[in-house]
Amino acid sequence: MAFIKDSANRTPIVDNVFAIVEKAKKAEAEFGKDAVVNATIGSLYGEDGTLVAMDVVYDTLKGIDNKKLAAYAASFVGNPAFIKDVSGWVLNGHSRLCEEIIATPGGTGAVGMSIENTLEPGQTLIIPEIAWGSYALMAQMNNLEVARYNLFRDGKFDVESLKETCRKVMEKQDKLTLIINDPCHNPTGYSLSDEEWKEVISFLNECSKTHPVILINDIAYIDFSYRKKQARDYMENFNDISDDVVVCIAFSISKSMTSYGLRCGAVIILAQKEEAVHEMKVVLEKQARAIWSNINNGAMEMFSQIMENKADEYEKEKDYYVDLLKQRTDLFVKEAKEAGLSHYPYKEGFFVTLDMDNEKAAKLHQALMDENIFTVKVNKGIRVALCSLPLDKVRGLARKIKDVELKT
Ligand code: PLP
Repeated sequence: MAFIKDSANRTPIVDNVFAIVEKAKKAEAEFGKDAVVNATIGSLYGEDGTLVAMDVVYDTLKGIDNKKLAAYAASFVGNPAFIKDVSGWVLNGHSRLCEEIIATPGGTGAVGMSIENTLEPGQTLIIPEIAWGSYALMAQMNNLEVARYNLFRDGKFDVESLKETCRKVMEKQDKLTLIINDPCHNPTGYSLSDEEWKEVISFLNECSKTHPVILINDIAYIDFSYRKKQARDYMENFNDISDDVVVCIAFSISKSMTSYGLRCGAVIILAQKEEAVHEMKVVLEKQARAIWSNINNGAMEMFSQIMENKADEYEKEKDYYVDLLKQRTDLFVKEAKEAGLSHYPYKEGFFVTLDMDNEKAAKLHQALMDENIFTVKVNKGIRVALCSLPLDKVRGLARKIKDVELKT
């Protein structure tokens, strides 16, 4: 007897991150925190080794009236103020396109619903070769295939590989849905240049002459870009999309507000034509109602209160942590260079990823654990979560990893 539908994939989730986090915690309990480097956690930690929870965020949240916290949101697409504030904060005046916004449970909800409602079962989703694991899981849950584009060539974004992957997918299906996780790509820390974005948009416009194109731009880490507000400048290029391209920007307050557990984000749908954004909105709104109904009212209210009354205070507090992250990653990248430790081109963001094939990564990852250095193995590399490592643990780490690599 089958209780689950036949088309569902029954293979359990293999979560590499949580298993290693547990091992790191066990090592800390056994050998003491000073003896262990736990570079596994993908959340922002302070220099005191604990999770950062920004004061402005939690003071605002706790100041919200209980009845507001208790209430359902005003609509299935999110509260009007939240929608306005997300538009202002994310697009920062860069868009001249038609626009609709749906509140979602984090960036996960935004990416997930953009995938699910644009591709038919059996079609192919295009994702980066090295990527956040949930993209492939979302594809699996929707009975989609994945095609992966190579990320880098000669230290730059491999636009040619993206083009080749799109062309191949276009040969077998009538539509393109692709994900670009930018700026601050997880896990490499790469951000496309303005020229690279221009080339991508011009290519997608070409593709759209025969195939409708849905570009999912996952911006989960945008507020930890070292370029601060200028990290949004590339969005000007979206104004040049053709009538047959839709951009779905997946925004999350998890990282932006250090509020991973509040489960709040949004999908921003952009297109040249009102009909295109309206059609997407109608379908996504229905899906929202059918699956989660509405989004955490307190989280939306907190975001709006901060954007409308405390934006300067928020930016000041956040930018302190952006600067701290920069100090950590500058130090690691400098020491990696001195030690000859190879990593993917890093520009900004939470992680640096060491560059190697899967066989070598598996061996080195285990050898590092034997030395009480805990990292996360990703496709073709090892992710070092500098977002959660205090500076005194970052100092000397690249050299230590190189020494283990030389012995492995
Ligand atoms: N996109 C990327 C690349 C991520 O790494 C994450 C979280 O780790 C998300 C989206 C979604 O995060 P959330 O659902 O917490 O907003």
